[in-house]
Amino acid sequence: MVLLSSCKQKPAVEETESRYAELVNKFAEVSLEADLTHLSANDIEAVKILFEVADIMNELFWIQAYGDKEELMSKITDEQARRYAMIHYGPWDRLNNMEPFVEGFGAKNAGANFYPSDMTKEEFEAWDSPNKSSLYTMIRRNDEGQLVAIWYKDFFAAQITKATELMKKAAELATDEGFKHYMNKRIEAMLTDDYLESDMAWMDMKTSPIDFIVGPIENYEDRLFGYKAAYEAFILIKDIEWSQKLERYATLLADLQRGLPVEPKYKSEIPGADSDMNVYQVIYYAGDCNAGSKTIAINLPNDERVHTSKGSRKLQLKNAMQAKFDKILVPISELLIAEEQRQYIKFDAFFENVMFHEVTHGMGIKNVVGKKGTTVRNALKEAYSPIEEAKADIMGLYLVSKLRENGEITEGELMDNFVTFVAGIFRSVRFGASSSHGKANMMRFNYFMEKGAIERREDGTYFVNYDKMYDAMISSVQQILIIQGDGNYDTAVKLIE
Ligand code: ZN
Repeated sequence: MVLLSSCKQKPAVEETESRYAELVNKFAEVSLEADLTHLSANDIEAVKILFEVADIMNELFWIQAYGDKEELMSKITDEQARRYAMIHYGPWDRLNNMEPFVEGFGAKNAGANFYPSDMTKEEFEAWDSPNKSSLYTMIRRNDEGQLVAIWYKDFFAAQITKATELMKKAAELATDEGFKHYMNKRIEAMLTDDYLESDMAWMDMKTSPIDFIVGPIENYEDRLFGYKAAYEAFILIKDIEWSQKLERYATLLADLQRGLPVEPKYKSEIPGADSDMNVYQVIYYAGDCNAGSKTIAINLPNDERVHTSKGSRKLQLKNAMQAKFDKILVPISELLIAEEQRQYIKFDAFFENVMFHEVTHGMGIKNVVGKKGTTVRNALKEAYSPIEEAKADIMGLYLVSKLRENGEITEGELMDNFVTFVAGIFRSVRFGASSSHGKANMMRFNYFMEKGAIERREDGTYFVNYDKMYDAMISSVQQILIIQGDGNYDTAVKLIE
C-alpha cells in the first residue's frame, strides 16, 4: 500500500510540555460503559470480535485522513503531543480550524489523503473518469503521472479481507436474525463497494440488542469536494428500558400534535410514523466518528434511496450524553446558573430535552398551508434549518410539559427541564453562528430575555422565572409553527437576524 503524507518536513521541534498538555486538557476523559446482562454469552463473544473490526476501521481512517500514522508518530517525541495527534488522527487541530499543532507541518490538504497532494481542483474537474466522484474510490497517480480512481475494496484489500472475515465470525455468533442478515449484507457491501442492500437490511433490523455501524459513511473529511466517504465504526448496546419508553411516546404523538397551541390549519398533518428512534450505550468509537469531538446522536443511512423507501433510523447515545452532561453542562451551570437554581440541573431532564427535540422533528408542519406542493423547507430556504432546530428545541420542551401534565412522565419536575434547558442554551451557543444549532439557541436566549423568562443577575448568573418561562414556551411554539405554516421567509430571516 502506498501511503502518502501530505507534506514533507524537518523533524519536529520539541515544544514546551505545558502547551500540549493544555491542548489535551480541552478533552475530558470518560469511560464508555454498558449493562450487558441482557446479552447472551454468544452475543458477548460477537461484540468482542466487533472491537477487532472497529480497530481496522481506525487503521483505514488514519490512511484516509493523514497517511502513514507510524511515520508521523515517529517524528513526535512529546508524549502529550502524541496523544493530541491520536485524538485528531494527524497533526492538525480539528477544534481549531485544522491548524497544524506539530512543528514543520503546513495546512492540511482540503482533500485529506483521498487525492494526490499535488492535484488541483482544475485538474480533477478536467479529468474524464466515470468513478472519480464515487464515495468509494481513492484517487492516485499511475506511473505516467495520470490520475486513477481505485475502488476502496482494491485499495484497502488486505484490511477489508481481514475485517470481513471477522464480521463473518461475529455474524455466526450473534443471536438476532436481523443482525445476522445485516452483517452478511454489510460484508458483501464492503467487498463490492455497493452499500444499498446492507443499508436496507440495517433499516429492517428491529430487535437486535447489539448494533454495529461500520464502513465508509460520512463525507466531511473530504473538504475539497465532499465526495469521499471515511471509514468508521460504532459499537452499540441497546438501552431496552428507554427504547420501550420511546415506543410508548410514539403512540401518543398524534394526540400531542392535535393538542398543539395553534389554529387547526397549522396542525392538520399527521406526525411521521417513520421515526424509528432508539436509545443505545456506545461502547466504542473508531475512525471518522472518533476524530476530535464525539457525536451523541446518529441519523443514518445517508442514502436518499433508502430514505424514500424506508426512512432513516435515529440512534440516541445515552452514556455519551451523560458524559457531556457531567463534563460540559454541569461546569457551565456552575458559572452561569443562579446558585439556588443549580439543584434543578439534572441529567434526566437533559436527556428528556434532547430526546424530545428529536421526536418533534417528525411533528408540526412540513407543507405550507394552502399552497399545495410547497414544502416549508423550500419556502424558508436557508432560514429553514435554524428555524427547524429552534422549533425542535422549544417544542421538545413543550412536549415534556404536556407529558408531565398527563402523567406520562413522573420523575422530577418541569422546573428541572426549564433550568436544564437554559443551561443547554449556554452549551449550544458555543457551536457559533455558522451552526444552525448555534443560531437556534441564540434566538431562544434572546426571546427568553425579552419575555423575562430568564433574567441576568449582577454576578453574571441567570435565573429562570417559572411562570414567564411557561408562557414564553407556549408563545414561542406558536410563533414558530405559524412562520413555518405560512412559509413566511421574511419573518424567519428577521427572527434569525
Ligand atoms: Zn435537531
